[in-house]
Amino acid sequence: MKELSARALSYLEGCTEETFQLLETLCGIPAPSHHEEKRAEFCLNWFKERGAEGVYIDEALNVVYPVNCDGRDDIIVFMAHTDTVFPDMEPLPYRKDEEYIYCPGVCDDTVCLVQIMMTVQYILKHNLKPNCGILFVANSCEEGLGNLKGVRQIMKDYAGRVSALYTVDSGYSHIFNRCVGSHRYRVTLETEGGHSYGAFGNKNAIHYMSDMICRLYEQEVPKKEGTKTTYNVGIIEGGTSVNTIAQKVSAMYEYRSDDEESLAFMQKSFEAIVEATRAKGVTLTVELLGERPCSGKVDQKVIDEMSEKCMAIQSKHTGLPCYAASASTDCNIPLSLGVPAVCLGSYEGAGVHTREEKLKISSVPIGTKIVAELILGYFED
Ligand SMILES: [Zn+2]
Repeated sequence: MKELSARALSYLEGCTEETFQLLETLCGIPAPSHHEEKRAEFCLNWFKERGAEGVYIDEALNVVYPVNCDGRDDIIVFMAHTDTVFPDMEPLPYRKDEEYIYCPGVCDDTVCLVQIMMTVQYILKHNLKPNCGILFVANSCEEGLGNLKGVRQIMKDYAGRVSALYTVDSGYSHIFNRCVGSHRYRVTLETEGGHSYGAFGNKNAIHYMSDMICRLYEQEVPKKEGTKTTYNVGIIEGGTSVNTIAQKVSAMYEYRSDDEESLAFMQKSFEAIVEATRAKGVTLTVELLGERPCSGKVDQKVIDEMSEKCMAIQSKHTGLPCYAASASTDCNIPLSLGVPAVCLGSYEGAGVHTREEKLKISSVPIGTKIVAELILGYFED
C-alpha cells in the first residue's frame, strides 16, 4: 500500500482551516435530493477555479471531473453525494462548539465531499497524473427518494468503462462492502368518510390504515444466517379534521435486505397484506417510490482486496479497529451491475439523518488523510 508522500502530508496538515471553511460554505447551500442545483454549481466553479479541465454537470446534476479517462476502460470512480435527506430549501442551521459542528447533513455527506475536494485540490496544485482513468464525482440523489439517480447516470454514461467505484459516505469505524437492497412505497387508502356524528359508522381511512400498519409490524422477517432484513413505516399523513371521518390517508413504507431472496420474501408478504386490506372494502393504491437492487455477480476477490485496503487505511489513521458491514449506498448500483464497489468511512459523528446531526471536529483531518491516501494511491506523487 502506497503511503502519503511528505509533501502530501504537509499539504494536508496545512489545509485544515480551508477544509472547515469549505465545509461551512457547502453546509450553507441547501441540496435536497433532486434539487442539488446550487451545490452542484458551487462545486463546478470550485473545481474550475482550481484549474480542473473538462469538469461538467450532467443531466442528473452530478458534478463530474474526469481525469485521464479518454478512451480508457480502467476508470476508478471516487464519489461523495451532494444531496441531504432534509427537504429544506433554506440554509440549514450551522453552529459549533469546542468539540462538534452541528448541522443537518454535515456528516452525511458534506464532510466526505469536502475531503475528496481537498484531495483534488492537491492533485491539481501539483498536476499529478494517475496511472488509470479517474472520475471524481460530487453526485446527486443518494438519499431516500433520490433513488440513486446520480450514480445510475454515471454507470450509464460510463457503461463498461468503470473497473471499480469508491464512495465516501460513512463514519470511519466502518466500511460498507455489501449492499442492502430496498423497495419503498407510498400506500394511499381511501374510504367514504363523512361527518363524525352524522355519518358515524362509515369507514374511516385512518382506522383501516392503522390496521394495515399493525399487520405490517406483525410480519416475521426472514432469519437467514448472515443476513439482515428490516421494515419501516416512516411517514403517515391524512385526515381532514377532528370531526370528520377520515377519507384519505397515505403512508410511506419500506423494507430492506442484504439478501435477494429475503427481499423477494418481503415483497410477497407486503403484497399479501395489501390484498387483505383491500378485501375489507377500501380503496388502496400502491405506488413504488424507489427500488434499490441487491448485489449482482461481482468478483468477490476484488471486493475483498478493496475492502482490506480501505480498512487498513482507516485503521492506520484512526488507530481503531474498522469493520465491514452492509448498507444501502451508491455502491448498490455498481454492485448490481457486477462492478466492484466499496463505501469508505472518513469521520466520526452522530445523529445522521436527524436534525441533531453532529460531526466531531477532531475527526475531520484524520478522515481527510484517509480519503487522500486512498485516492493518491492511484496517482504518481
Ligand atoms: Zn450518505
